[in-house]
Amino acid sequence: MQQETSGMHDSQELCIECGGARLIERVREQSFAYGPPGDQVLLTASMPVFICEDCGYESFDERGEAARHAAVCRHLGVQTPDEVRMTRERTGLSRAEFCQLAGFGPASLQRWESGMVVPNASSDRLIFLLRCPDNIERLRKRVATIDQEPPSPPPQDADRSGLVCRT
Ligand SMILES: [Zn+2]
Repeated sequence: MQQETSGMHDSQELCIECGGARLIERVREQSFAYGPPGDQVLLTASMPVFICEDCGYESFDERGEAARHAAVCRHLGVQTPDEVRMTRERTGLSRAEFCQLAGFGPASLQRWESGMVVPNASSDRLIFLLRCPDNIERLRKRVATIDQEPPSPPPQDADRSGLVCRT
């Protein structure tokens, strides 16, 4: 049975350029372009790189991907996947509970924690606020209230110019 190959490397693999087995791992400051063509910025990430001693080809694995992703998050001013996950873990809530409280879709949270997607600004800031236990409590009360209130039609004499906030 043949083993599937992937683009990812670990130190046990061979150089994908020359097939050489002498790969050495070094931590390097790597610069990379980020952004749409014509509007790119150069970002830098400190990351492990595998260098082939035979041909000099350099590659990186998922740790390098994560380091690059973290650099992009810092550039965009949002929390990294690790920070999102740690915030959620500190609340003691499961992903499902955290999502229910914050109003996130479970798939979104999973993508933010895995680094597949960068959270938008409002989601990032809500996650940031959830670092504070007081805000967790406030949201719990708020969500409990919403759950209790039966859906009711607006009163007949409601001001048409806008809804009144009664919280
Ligand atoms: Zn090589």
